[in-house]
Amino acid sequence: MKKRNVGFIGCGKMAQAMVNGMLQSSFAKREEILASTKSAESAQNVKEAFQIETTLDNKQVASYADVLIVAVKPHLYGEVLQEISSYVKEETIIVTVAAGIDIAYIESQMSKQIKVIRSMPNTPSLVGEGMTVFCANDRMNEKDIAFIKDMFASFGKVELVEESLMDSIPAISGSSPAYVYMFIEALADGGVRSGIPRDKAYKLAAQSVLGAAKMVLETGKHPGVLKDEVCTPGGATIEAITTLEQHQFRGTILAAMESCDLKNKNMQ
Ligand code: NAD
Repeated sequence: MKKRNVGFIGCGKMAQAMVNGMLQSSFAKREEILASTKSAESAQNVKEAFQIETTLDNKQVASYADVLIVAVKPHLYGEVLQEISSYVKEETIIVTVAAGIDIAYIESQMSKQIKVIRSMPNTPSLVGEGMTVFCANDRMNEKDIAFIKDMFASFGKVELVEESLMDSIPAISGSSPAYVYMFIEALADGGVRSGIPRDKAYKLAAQSVLGAAKMVLETGKHPGVLKDEVCTPGGATIEAITTLEQHQFRGTILAAMESCDLKNKNMQ
């Protein structure tokens, strides 16, 4: 597939995860990536960390990129898009990563018809285990979609969905690593409480979460069946499950996701 120049406008936590994933998987070469940031200090930090070119000039990135990933905070999208609008090339694909910013909004901020990908990646992209969900506008052709799929697949799993589902994605895969980290931290705290050294406790907790996730993905079994397989009748695990149910474990997660959804829908 033809190589394309990749530009990042904003190179914070999310963009850096994607840059690292693309480099590690050899999807892109260092000289094919250009990133802009807000301050000279962050531009220098990104340059040193990833050995890619950086700039403070968003217009330079817009003119350079064949794929332009806009990775600033959601409230800055309007300002940034208006700044770069006349510098984006005719065939450039604009990729958004922000919750709540829809395709119609992006199109409305540009002075010409453009190709748009609305995506929701997550930060485990940094280690090649990202989950990116995306949708496309009708200017994207099959080759463009294939390229974008390959790009996201270079740092994790990828799913193409209808735009109507996009507002619900951040709660399940964009933000959810944060809840999982809390779960891992809590598991580790429980281990430390029982005398397990802190470093071992994090390893045991994190590997158990990783292993359980792999079981769901690779065995194809329903999570409830896998849970049942761990619970010996009359055993200790079902006692833990009972306590989790009594404290609204699942209900709390559903409520947290609902509040995440609500916030995202009011983001634009
Ligand atoms: P961040 O604060 O870490 O990074 C923001 C970057 O934008 C910084 O590099 C900053 O220098 C740059 N910036 C700010 N104003 C700019 C401007 N006018 N021009 C150019 N660069 C500018 O934020 P983040 O967590 O990386 O989030 C970025 C986007 O990614 C957000 O829209 C967020 O919703 C989305 N996102 C983040 C995550 C996550 O887990 N962090 C997950 C999915 C999506």
